[in-house]
Amino acid sequence: MTKLGIATLRQAARRLRDRFRPAPLILLYHRVADLPSDPQLLCVTPEHFKEHVEILRNNACPMALGEMVRALRDNTLPRRAVAVTFDDGYADNLLNGKPSLERYEVPATVYVISGFVDARREFWADQLEQLFLQPGILPQQLCLTISGQTYRWDLGERAHYSEDEFKQNRAWHVLKTENPTPRHQVYRALCQLLYTLPHRDQHIVLGSLNKWAGTKPVCRPTHRALTPDEVRLLAQDGLVEVGSHTVEHPSLSALSVAGQRDEIRRSKIRLEEIVGHPVTSFAYPYGTRSDYTAETVEIVREAGYDHACSNFEGLVRQGTDPCQLPRYLVRDWDGEEFERHLMEWRDA
Ligand SMILES: [Zn+2]
Repeated sequence: MTKLGIATLRQAARRLRDRFRPAPLILLYHRVADLPSDPQLLCVTPEHFKEHVEILRNNACPMALGEMVRALRDNTLPRRAVAVTFDDGYADNLLNGKPSLERYEVPATVYVISGFVDARREFWADQLEQLFLQPGILPQQLCLTISGQTYRWDLGERAHYSEDEFKQNRAWHVLKTENPTPRHQVYRALCQLLYTLPHRDQHIVLGSLNKWAGTKPVCRPTHRALTPDEVRLLAQDGLVEVGSHTVEHPSLSALSVAGQRDEIRRSKIRLEEIVGHPVTSFAYPYGTRSDYTAETVEIVREAGYDHACSNFEGLVRQGTDPCQLPRYLVRDWDGEEFERHLMEWRDA
């Protein structure tokens, strides 16, 4: 038999084996909250989250991510295993998410942005949402220089944005191709521009925008990060593990090696100070293959992390790199839809 023939047979045998032994998978959540608008599609309502967790308890084998990685290394991955993870460390993970995790005894890992735990400010994309997509009055013309390039926008009549107009557009999100108003167009453009900008420059742009709008940045209770005390509370009984998601959530591939090392190490040290034990799990901010490099993975290993999560889809199989674990992004689905997605992913 040719080499190719043997390889094809092996592949078929693996598929057959996986059909009877569904490979484990990792879920990626961000927020457990019911908000008037969610343009980045990060929220799962507390009701839906409870349904998800109940389904995991009854129809899957929920396990802690660290345990799943150990089983991956020992070649003892259990059937139907599912690990739950959260990125960013919003306060709602504790307030709205943990009660359901506790009720159904489902472990989870929460990846915390250490710089946000110590600062009373919103994530930059939330600040843009607050400025442009919430009702209010803004100057009509916006002229902004970012990285040496000048951008001009005209908000037209939508400089005045009423409560009714906000309600009409509240279901809008960034995956939609159309922008219902110039405000949505500016929001989308600024999200793209700020995404790879160094943290300091993001801060400068947001400062200019607040000056232009005549507003002071407000950290809304609905959009705040966990406080250090809350991070401790989240991790105290061991059901939830705290992992690192860097200090400022940069797209790491846009940073120098020294800059990446600083983000990856400093967040570990700070979070260990808070929880009082080693932090061994990491998640790459944004997490697509273009947001980090092979060098980043090496820095993560060198910094003393045991495993790390990415943000692209895939099942956890023998041979999966523990420092580039694939994950499935969960949206605000009801229980039925969530279960359908779980089944689809397992058949992938
Ligand atoms: Zn993130």
